[in-house]
This record gives sequence, structure tokens and C-alpha cells, in this order.
Amino acid sequence: MASPVTQSPRLSIIAGPTAVGKGTLMAELRRRHPDLFVSVSATTREPRPGEIDGVHYHFVTDTEFDRLVAAGQMLEWALVHGAHRYGTPRRPVEECLAAGKPVVLEIDLDGARQVRCSMPEAQLIFIAPPNWEELVKRLRCRGTEDATEQERRLITARAELAAESEFDHLVINDTVSRATDELEGLIGLTR
Ligand code: 5GP
Repeated sequence: MASPVTQSPRLSIIAGPTAVGKGTLMAELRRRHPDLFVSVSATTREPRPGEIDGVHYHFVTDTEFDRLVAAGQMLEWALVHGAHRYGTPRRPVEECLAAGKPVVLEIDLDGARQVRCSMPEAQLIFIAPPNWEELVKRLRCRGTEDATEQERRLITARAELAAESEFDHLVINDTVSRATDELEGLIGLTR
């Protein structure tokens, strides 16, 4: 007799270049699915106005970040945009998957590659802009970085766009509503 097909809870990694709108898509996913577990990363960067510790990020010192890495408490971590360290706390992710719930991580390319190695069952979803000009426009328009930081992020973005083929799925962020519909399908969320 054939054994019943069971679908294991999925770990979905969402990555893509700076300013492509990952944050907006994640906010829309959360709005549609308040119970969805989206990992809260630890970071050594300073909070931006309006960001809340424990909600947007766990804001930690360099020393605390070192301690978390040394204690094996990071599922992955990376130096992002050559400036600050960001990492995914391991335990909440493992607990959630063990409880049979889907988990979504929004992390950079380096982190996505690390998770692919340590958890090959994870699905990698790449968010891309409709075109390069649109990406530059989105970065300049959001105005959260100064000119130097914008240029640095665009250099990283070029490298990240070239990595698209490493991913399992490509989602073009043309409109928030359509791209979120596609993400829902990939993550296996129903409304
Ligand atoms: P921001 O400083 O704009 O909040 O985030 C910068 C970048 O850091 C984002 O593009 C995001 O993908 C990446 N990032 C956020 N959290 C993590 C994490 O836990 N691990 C890794 N590797 N990258 C992260």
C-alpha cells in the first residue's frame, strides 16, 4: 500500500536586490496572513526612525552579535552592503517548522546561500524588478539612504541580480498585489 503523501512544512527564503520592494511585499503578506511566521532578524545597524526593537529587528551590539554567532544561535548571518551584520535567530525558525507551520525569511543573497547548504529543503524565491531603471528609481525615490549609500547598494544590487538563476522561483515585483498573490501560491498560503 502506498504511504500517504505528507507535505513537510516549508521554509521559504525571499531575497532580491535592494529597493526591489521586498519589505512592501512582506508587509502585504503579513497583512493578509497575520499568523504567518516571519523571522525577526538580529542586526548591528542602528534603528531607523519608527523601527521597534523586537518587531522590525532585534537591534544588538557587535559584542552581542559575536556571542550569538559563537553560541551557534544564528541559522545564517552576513555582512550586508559592506556595512552591518544581519542574522536569523535559529531557534524560532526550528520551533515553528517543528510545529508544522510555514516560515518565511527575508534575507540577503549570502544568507540565502548559507540556508540552502544547511537546509536544502528550503525553497529560494527571488524578487526581481521589472527592469534596472525601475530599481534605480525605487531606490532614489524612497530616500532612506544618502547618495553614497545609494551607490553602494546599487553595486550590491548588480551582483544580486546576476544570482537569479541560483533560485528556485522568480517573482517580478511589478505590482504589490499581483506579486503577493504569486508569493502566496509558492508558500502555500490560502485565503
Ligand atoms: P535594511 O538595513 O534595509 O533593513 O536591510 C538591508 C538588507 O539586509 C535587506 O536587503 C535584507 O535582505 C538583509 N537582511 C535582513 N535581515 C537579514 C538576515 O537575518 N540575514 C541576512 N543574511 N540578511 C538580512
